[in-house]
Amino acid sequence: MSDDVDVVDESDVGVKVRCEACPIRCFIKPGATGSCDRYGNVDGVLTRMDPVTVLEITKENGGRLVPFAVSDDWDGELVDDAVFVTGAGAGTTYPDYKPAPFIVSSNYAGVDTVTTVTEGIFSYCSARVKIDTDRYVGPEQATVRAGGEAVGMVTTGEYGSQMLSIGGVNHLTGGTKHEGLATMRTILALCRAEEVELEVEGGSQLRLQAGKPPIIDGHVEELMRVGCGSATVGMFAKTWSKLVDEVVVVDDHITGVLTEHQAGAVLGMPPSGIKVIGRRSTPGRYFNIAEPGAGWGGTTLTDPLSILGPFNAAKGARPGLRLLMTSTTGESVAYFILDDDLTPQPAEIPDEVVASVARIRANCEPALTTVLFVAGAGGSLRAGVSAEPVRLTRSVRSRLTRVTCGGAAVYVWPGGGITFMVDVLSVPKDSFGFVPTPAIVAPIEFTMSREDYLELGGHAEAIRSIDDALRDVPVRRLSARG
Ligand code: SF4
Repeated sequence: MSDDVDVVDESDVGVKVRCEACPIRCFIKPGATGSCDRYGNVDGVLTRMDPVTVLEITKENGGRLVPFAVSDDWDGELVDDAVFVTGAGAGTTYPDYKPAPFIVSSNYAGVDTVTTVTEGIFSYCSARVKIDTDRYVGPEQATVRAGGEAVGMVTTGEYGSQMLSIGGVNHLTGGTKHEGLATMRTILALCRAEEVELEVEGGSQLRLQAGKPPIIDGHVEELMRVGCGSATVGMFAKTWSKLVDEVVVVDDHITGVLTEHQAGAVLGMPPSGIKVIGRRSTPGRYFNIAEPGAGWGGTTLTDPLSILGPFNAAKGARPGLRLLMTSTTGESVAYFILDDDLTPQPAEIPDEVVASVARIRANCEPALTTVLFVAGAGGSLRAGVSAEPVRLTRSVRSRLTRVTCGGAAVYVWPGGGITFMVDVLSVPKDSFGFVPTPAIVAPIEFTMSREDYLELGGHAEAIRSIDDALRDVPVRRLSARG
């Protein structure tokens, strides 16, 4: 897509066709497509270039939706009760008073239902990215850039993960044209599960792709922690109490110390005279042991002993004391024995201790990048369902209307409007698009009983059967996902 929208040449009217599916209103010459590639001029007819995606409704698993698996000898016939029409490839109607492209009646489990199907154009949207890692990617609120343009920010860290918010209306519309387009491209790539390269101001270089391990400053992240340092101490305390005299699980957030921890105390472990440099929260749990970074447990540490003060004989330190230090994933590990001066000396790790650390790793999960598409179905989109958009919102609120995105289940935020979130990997492939206003195009469907649809002021005159709706429309043929 070029950064510039075609200048309309009114003299071409009659040769070109005009697309009315979004505010850009492209004039499209024969054999070409408009700025978004969704619509084209096919023999003088404005045509949605992608087929409509339909999903098969399985009889098993409570009527779960799966991608419509089509055999080679499929004759194209659709059976009403077994098919759900998604918004992917459905097209968009514009301006707002027009009914959605497909308003389809069907019968599910004996209930007359109506599904309104459209490709929503979302100016208010973002991608929320969860990066499974202990590694520091940058300070909260730091700007995230793509190709030098500000496209989002770092938000609050979560359990074992760093979080980004990419996009949002302010980056899409509130900055320069280049910022808006860079933001749109980045959201789109993330939603299409393509790899994106991002840079965090004051932080890391990131290569992220939904469903793949994050790559942080060139390092492919492998494991997501089993717990914080304190939780790890608690989980493996019984094993360690028989193998070593002290364990420190180094963690940027909550570092755990076995003999001081409740778990060590309950198991009757004697004190070790250890001194951890950091802010003691509760017994055996320390905050602020180091700066966040790419070293041990998401800190800057490369030498774990640097967080320990002198061992204290009066508090239980003794020569020969066995000290294990590990990170929350077991990827960083060191073993020491106190010498006669109570100084920790590196020592070979006994096999059974190696095995105990391997158990930490075995209980970690693969580190992944997860992308949620977040969007608000505004009044204009809702008007395609009902002439009284607020009634649709109320119907969704009261759970009479189910919202899906390409057939995938969504979470609808409480409160006003219809702001939803969906895992992009649960949406059929290639469902996301764009228009250069800039905004993201995504499928959205509203399903309810026919009675409720009429009750909320739906476009009754536009209701069609599935057979009618798809009679002359190419249907997308998908293989079932694994
Ligand atoms: S950008 Fe796409 S949807 Fe908008 S007018 Fe052009 S072809 Fe139509």
